[in-house]
Amino acid sequence: MSESSFDLIVIGAGPAGYVAAIRAAQFGMKVACVEKSSLGGTCLNVGCIPSKALLDSSEMYVKAKNGLNRHGIKISGEVTLDLAAMMKRKDEIVAGLVGGVGFLFKKNKIEHIRAAASFKSADTLELTDAEGKKRSIRAKRILIATGSSPVQLPNIKYDGEYILSSTEALEIRQVPEKIILIGAGYIGVELGSVWARLGSAVLVLDVLPRPLANMDRELVGKLQRSLEKIGMTFRFKVLADSVKIENGQVKLKWKSEDGKESGEETADKVIVSVGRKPVTAGLNLEAAGLKTNDKGFIEVDPGTYQTKVEGVYAIGDVIGGLMLAHKAEEEAVACIERMNGVAGHVNYDTCPGVVFTHPELASVGLTEEQAKEKGEIKVGKFQFAPNGRAKALEETEGLVKVIADAKTDRILGVHILHARASELIHEAVTAMEFAASSEDLARIFHGHPTLNEAIKEAALAVQGRAIHA
Ligand code: FAD
Repeated sequence: MSESSFDLIVIGAGPAGYVAAIRAAQFGMKVACVEKSSLGGTCLNVGCIPSKALLDSSEMYVKAKNGLNRHGIKISGEVTLDLAAMMKRKDEIVAGLVGGVGFLFKKNKIEHIRAAASFKSADTLELTDAEGKKRSIRAKRILIATGSSPVQLPNIKYDGEYILSSTEALEIRQVPEKIILIGAGYIGVELGSVWARLGSAVLVLDVLPRPLANMDRELVGKLQRSLEKIGMTFRFKVLADSVKIENGQVKLKWKSEDGKESGEETADKVIVSVGRKPVTAGLNLEAAGLKTNDKGFIEVDPGTYQTKVEGVYAIGDVIGGLMLAHKAEEEAVACIERMNGVAGHVNYDTCPGVVFTHPELASVGLTEEQAKEKGEIKVGKFQFAPNGRAKALEETEGLVKVIADAKTDRILGVHILHARASELIHEAVTAMEFAASSEDLARIFHGHPTLNEAIKEAALAVQGRAIHA
């Protein structure tokens, strides 16, 4: 068994792993990245990218069907759906980006090893390739970036045909008449909205009292009403109990949280989206002197991302916190910079969160409820309805909410509901990163006519002096 040696071995090539490998190579480290599946991890293959490809395609479909008349564009003949072509486009986008990571690995002279890794000791890994062949590699440092996978409900197991995880929900080949979606978090709501736009009736069940539990309550309420208009119905404080398949359909039994009500619903598919769990199975962490915490995550020092074993690090979904690709990437950069004597740092307080529905909901910082708990606040809001660019785009639904500290005026949170909220939020992220006040935001030039002007107006509204309200 031959043994090669590296400065750094990264396990996993998702946004955490591949970014870490590239940043390490930029420092001149000799790097290998071991990936058992496709480059790009969950995000590129079965997460962020394919879901956004389907979200954008399905939104185009809705627009073509309903939305272009106001622009004076008439489509003669029926607008029809070619789901196979939509899926092919999605697969091509994924393949292109996966290839892009391969290109970046070559460019940065990173050794990409296709294998599953498990620890033999704190500095040595055993690799098993697709044919079952084994070999060992060692490194001065090892970085675990093995990500997460969908949680499975004990009574409602994935079968790939009727009971689907988020991965399989990206691969449905015929639009189902009815879907039951268990879990109203952002992944579930996004996937549900894809299929609702394509024509499915989507019933969403959640044990919590509302969807998107960590996001600003007022804006979530408005988003829920928009989703209801496209064929999604929501039932809260209910538990999905059990399923059985009968005559090609799923019968799902549910009961209310307080046990007083129960019932049965029938659907063509059930999508389960109740969270994600860290992937550590098969890593043989014990051989490195490591174990996971009681939730299954690997614990690290928050500044360096080193585990309690010297030379072994972990980042991304596998360490918990916000399970988002950009959080994983920032941790990757900070971790490698700290290894190389540079002061890398992640400011989790300004990590944006986006729900890519229509309209999109994007947030940074505290929600109004969280901010109120911490002290006195001022809130400024501005609707998109009078915004010139929003009118030109025929996208006037939504608003911006700016929350500032009542005494210091420092911005504590910004929440945007709009078709382009995912792009707009970064002005607020930048402002918060530089500890801006709402007055700073209100006095900065904003090009006209742009959607960003609504952010300026919301910041002006904090002082009660919005111009166009
Ligand atoms: P992963 O991307 O999960 O990568 C881990 C990699 O490690 C995998 O490729 C795996 O094969 C590999 N691996 C595991 N064990 C081993 C081993 N023993 N040996 C070798 N390789 C191994 N986030 C956003 O920020 N924006 C979004 O819009 C968004 N949308 C999403 C939509 C969906 C449907 C889903 C499921 C997720 C979405 N996410 C989104 C979350 C995002 O995908 C994750 O937060 C991100 O991928 C985490 O990156 P990671 O590198 O930590 O892990």
